[in-house]
Amino acid sequence: MFDALISGSGVNGAALALLLDQAGFNIKVIDHHPIDLSESPRTVTLNLQSLQLLEKIGIEIPSTPINNIEVRDAVGSGKITFHASDITENELARTVYFADLTEALNTRIKTIVSDSISEEISTGADKISVECKDGDICNARLLIASDAKLKPIKQFFALSDPKDYQQQAATFIVHSENMDTSTATQVFYNKDIFALMPIHDRENPQGNNFSVVWSLDIQEVNLQTYVLQHLPRLENILGTKLHILSEIESFPLKSFTTNKYHAERACLIGDAAHIIHPMAGQGLNLGLADCSTLFAEITKANESGIGIGSSQVLKKYEIKRKVFNDSMVKGVDRIHALFQSDNIYMRLIRNNGLTLVNRIEPLKRFFIKSAEGIFGI
Ligand SMILES: Cc1cc2nc3c(=O)[nH]c(=O)nc-3n(C[C@H](O)[C@H](O)[C@H](O)COP(=O)(O)OP(=O)(O)OC[C@H]3O[C@@H](n4cnc5c(N)ncnc54)[C@H](O)[C@@H]3O)c2cc1C
Repeated sequence: MFDALISGSGVNGAALALLLDQAGFNIKVIDHHPIDLSESPRTVTLNLQSLQLLEKIGIEIPSTPINNIEVRDAVGSGKITFHASDITENELARTVYFADLTEALNTRIKTIVSDSISEEISTGADKISVECKDGDICNARLLIASDAKLKPIKQFFALSDPKDYQQQAATFIVHSENMDTSTATQVFYNKDIFALMPIHDRENPQGNNFSVVWSLDIQEVNLQTYVLQHLPRLENILGTKLHILSEIESFPLKSFTTNKYHAERACLIGDAAHIIHPMAGQGLNLGLADCSTLFAEITKANESGIGIGSSQVLKKYEIKRKVFNDSMVKGVDRIHALFQSDNIYMRLIRNNGLTLVNRIEPLKRFFIKSAEGIFGI
């Protein structure tokens, strides 16, 4: 019998698998099919807590530091800037290629099987049993699910569907001659949100490149054409020419929270437990903080002779993560609604709000520390 069966080896499932493996737990990881991400322009911005976790499991991949973050409303004059020095740090975050991170984690896992849970999940006094598509029955003390789209997982945890913003994010790499490569910039422009994160060029370290995540209020248009048509407006706002260097990838925008992170002998982590709009660059950071907390609860329980799949352990994990995760998802959802509004009063609130937060140092520090996950663990 395995100590833990991890279903889904995305970044969160894989990171937790490595933490548990390093601590001597007997684990099995299944994923329906590993995706080839090698050509993907997708990047993620990791906060200091996430970077520490990756260091702990020995993941070393190229990354680009972010020292400042500037947020502005293109329509009004509202603006807020965050500097690493506001929280007496050298950097606020680092940007990495998603493909580099996924590959570095997955190549380190010893026990990854290309499979998927089929219909049956059953629980007994000391174990959970799942039937996999290859016909194998896998018994474990704990099931950790990071793949909520999977029907048996959805049913077992009684999960609802995520909220669909009916919008999509376009992501690609650009080159700019004159933008500051230590600053991430976010511009709210009508209903679009345009974020530029510094990222190294894989071939040329001096590349002056940026990763774009552009949340668009469109669904069924040709994304390539839309981006090419509308990029010049953003170039005007930013005062720079942006040369597109990669494919343009798109993602549907969703948000999700759930009532419970655990069921009998099973728990949810990462995007299976919460999905947040990417404007905050927090989805993976919240997920990695789930992994840290769950790992800490499992090791503590094991040392005290408490079953790692017991509800006592899983409840503690839920208490430590759910309130913080929910407040982040809902907070970002409200900011999103504020910036989607055409109402003149809402526009005034957001403009004045940005300027006000910028002037109040303790409030600024609070926002940075929340984004760093410092209040969430
Ligand atoms: C455009 C965009 C930009 C983003 N930028 C940032 C950022 O800057 N910073 C940040 O922190 N977050 C960011 N995020 C969020 C982040 O990418 C996600 O939160 C994170 O990747 C979720 O990882 P996960 O491991 O929880 O889930 P997933 O990546 O969804 O992994 C789930 C795994 O389960 C597997 N699986 C699925 N179905 C099955 C099945 N039937 N059987 C077996 N296995 C299965 C999949 O193959 C996958 O490996 C961004 C998201 C988007 C869309």
